[in-house]
Amino acid sequence: MVTKEQIVAWIEDYAKRIEENKAYLTKLDAAIGDADHGINMSRGFRAVMEKLPTVKDKDIGTVLKTTGMSLVSTVGGAGGPLYGTLFMRAGMSVDKQEELSEEDLVELFDAALQGVMQRGKSEPGQKTMIDAIKPGLDALREAVENGADTTEAMKQATDAAYQGVKDTIPLLAKKGRASYLGERSRGHQDPGATSSFMLFQSLYSVLSPEQVNYVLEEAQDVDMEDVEDIEPAVDEE
Ligand code: ADP
Ligand code: MG
Repeated sequence: MVTKEQIVAWIEDYAKRIEENKAYLTKLDAAIGDADHGINMSRGFRAVMEKLPTVKDKDIGTVLKTTGMSLVSTVGGAGGPLYGTLFMRAGMSVDKQEELSEEDLVELFDAALQGVMQRGKSEPGQKTMIDAIKPGLDALREAVENGADTTEAMKQATDAAYQGVKDTIPLLAKKGRASYLGERSRGHQDPGATSSFMLFQSLYSVLSPEQVNYVLEEAQDVDMEDVEDIEPAVDEE
């Protein structure tokens, strides 16, 4: 079971995690993109945190849909529409609910995944957010079908999403800016998959007092002052 309070805590934990990992996500994007993923996500979730108090007392669907709408309206590039769609579709799947069963949680992540795949015209194996969300969802579903409680199921899901992030390293990017690099996109961890893994990590951390230390690959070092100055490339999609 996941309560509405835990869903709100999930968003809050995620916003905090994004802030803490802003430089890290940006460095990952510097290697294969345009060095703005952490900046984009931070801008989006600061807006979400401003909006969240106005819907805290509403149902779970409203909380998630409002999160998605805040992201769409504040974040440019690929990340904004993709994460916006993720949260809006997640919210639509649990509309008007005050708490979620294990099965509802599977539905929520399934709707989120379908939303991102449709919006991004993407599929597994293309070195994107999908490559963390899909393994996370699959593990979540399997755990729930085997009778795991929410916390245990989210543990399984988070472990699988973490592995999914690592598995993006050798992949060839087929979507987004990283795809412009062709073969040179191999050998780098996808920034969007990394931030999507953190979605699972945040929900798990809200549910469980016991924390797992998921160690992520170091990103290559870039001067953050240079990075803040990088002009966004021309939008491709
Ligand atoms: P931008 O690429 O516009 O600079 P961000 O840097 O915020 O946007 O996000 C980049 C991330 O978005 C990538 O690492 C990838 O995971 C994800 N992404 C890009 N295009 C797609 C797509 N078509 N489908 C799914 N995810 C995508
Ligand atoms: Mg980028």
